[in-house]
This record gives sequence, structure tokens and C-alpha cells, in this order.
Amino acid sequence: IKTIGILTSGGDAPGMNAAIRAVVRTAINKGLKVKGIQKGYNGLINEEIIDMDKRSVADIIQRGGTILYTARCMEFMTPEGQKKGAEVCKKHGIDGIVVIGGDGSFRGAQKLAEAGVNTIGLPGTIDLDIACTDYTIGFDTAINTAMEAIDKIRDTSTSHERCSIIEVMGRNAGYIALWCGIANGAEDILLPERYDNDEQALINHIIEARKRGKKHHLIINAEGIGHSTGMARRIEAATGIETRATILGYMQRGGSPTCKDRVYASVMGAYAVDLLCEGKSNRLVAYKDGKFVDFDIDEALAMTKDIDEYEFNISALLSK
Ligand code: ADP
Repeated sequence: IKTIGILTSGGDAPGMNAAIRAVVRTAINKGLKVKGIQKGYNGLINEEIIDMDKRSVADIIQRGGTILYTARCMEFMTPEGQKKGAEVCKKHGIDGIVVIGGDGSFRGAQKLAEAGVNTIGLPGTIDLDIACTDYTIGFDTAINTAMEAIDKIRDTSTSHERCSIIEVMGRNAGYIALWCGIANGAEDILLPERYDNDEQALINHIIEARKRGKKHHLIINAEGIGHSTGMARRIEAATGIETRATILGYMQRGGSPTCKDRVYASVMGAYAVDLLCEGKSNRLVAYKDGKFVDFDIDEALAMTKDIDEYEFNISALLSK
């Protein structure tokens, strides 16, 4: 390996910059050249490629977002697009590539590996929805951002004795909802993995909690369930309790990464370069059972994971 490329793809996540910095500096310290590929696979196909040196990643460890920009790229889903991507790598002398993104981005990385470009994936998503790893870059920052926002909503909900529905990100995975649900002491947590659409049960729970003397009622609703505004209207009509919905939205994707996200992303970035230097390809860096490890991408994509049942059960008990 002489030259490595690095790109961020799919949804952005705080800590991606720390990972980029670690990849660039580890690689250069090992005598490699680094090329930054902008806007995910789009930038690969369109050759939006820049030379990177140690200074090009100065002053970014504390910044959210990704200095390389990110994108979704339909063309890269096609065999022609993938072929073009691999050809661009060859043309620019890129013989190894680090892809920071989610499962979709790793499917793309797999194709590059098949085409002979050594590829390593780093898990970058605020949703924590990558099965082989207990940690993904950005999750820690996102839950802390959401938790602080929900604390503020909680204050005003209590003052007005309101019911508040707070919609957090997580289209297919309820990890952000579960963590905030526990951290913010929510009365109800609606997770895509568990919610059975029984709105009447939710309404009964709100009425019963109010009778027990609860001043506010916080419902953390994952984006994958959605419809928070309509849900608020129906709950208010059924219970007579003022109910408001707040959709936290994109704020959860931004902001300065937490210490954990900076440190883990830095370690993972360095780890990815080590793997490339060992001649490895089609691997995914993960954090599992307290250790940084790596998995074959095909095997990693075939794994599944689910919400921790114990955590989910206690979340309900603790707000009673
Ligand atoms: P994430 O990486 O966060 O899961 P996406 O699912 O949107 O986000 O994937 C990001 C990009 O990865 C897509 O826009 C596409 O360019 C590429 N990609 C996704 N799935 C595939 C696939 N099956 N084959 C090749 N490339 C893919």
C-alpha cells in the first residue's frame, strides 16, 4: 500500500472529523500518501479528490460534521458506477481506501474490495445501528445533544403539567430513543423494534400516571414510528391533557463531538490504517465487548442486533 483514499458517506455524524484526522496522520506517519475523496461515492465517481497532508486536518478534532462532505450516491449502486469508482482509484494511484459510514456505505465498500481496491470500513452513524459493534462514531454525541434538549423540554412540561412527545432520530433503530428515555426519565419510550401501535394503551398509561400524581408525561418517540404531531393531537383529545410534540431533527447530527466520540474515532481511524498496512481488505473496524476488533464486511453485514431487553424493561419501571 502506497496511497490511501478516505471518504465519508451516508448520514454525517459528529466524530467523523476525528476519524479523518487519525487516518490522515497515522498514514502519513507511516510514510503513505493520503487523498481525500469529497462527497462520498459521488466524489469518487466525479474525481473530487484532494491531496491531504498533516496540516489539512488541523483544528478539526473538535468539529462536528465532516470536512470531506458526505452524500448519497445512486450511481454507485449500479455495477457501472462501481466499476467507474474502482477505475478512478487506479487512475489516482489509490490502492487502499477507508470508508466512514453506515451499512449502505459498507455495501459500497464491499464492491470496491471485489474490484481490487483494499477497503476498510469505519462505523459512522448516530443511530448505533451497525450489528457487529457496540459503538458507532457519533452516537455518544447525539444522545448527549438530545438529552440536553429533552431536559429543557422537561422543565417546561412540568411547569405547565403537559404531556410532551419528543421525536428523536432513529429510522430503524431505537437506540437513541432508549438511551434518552432512560437518561431523561421518560414515562414512555416508543421504539421501532418494540412499539405495537397500541395508542389506546399509551393513552391509558398517561391517564393512569396523572392519577398517580405525575406532573408531566414525557414520551420519547423514535423517528421510525414518527407521526408525533398527530399523536399529540389524539392524546390531547382523548385525555384532556395539553400535549405538544417536538421533533428534535437535525440538531442531533451536529455539534462538537464528546470526548468518547473523539477518542474512539481516533483509535478506529488509526486501526483502519494499521489494517491496510497489514494488507487487509474488506474489513470493518468495530468495538465489541470492550475491545477494538475487526470483522469481515460480508460477515458483519449478515449480523443482527436488537435492543437490550433488560434495559428496555427497566426504563419502564424507573419512571413509574
Ligand atoms: P449509510 O452508509 O449511512 O447506511 P446509505 O444507506 O444511504 O447510508 O448508503 C450510503 C451510500 O452507499 C449510498 O448512497 C450508495 O452510494 C452506497 N451504497 C449503499 N448501498 C449500496 C449497495 N448495495 N451497493 C453499492 N453501494 C451502496
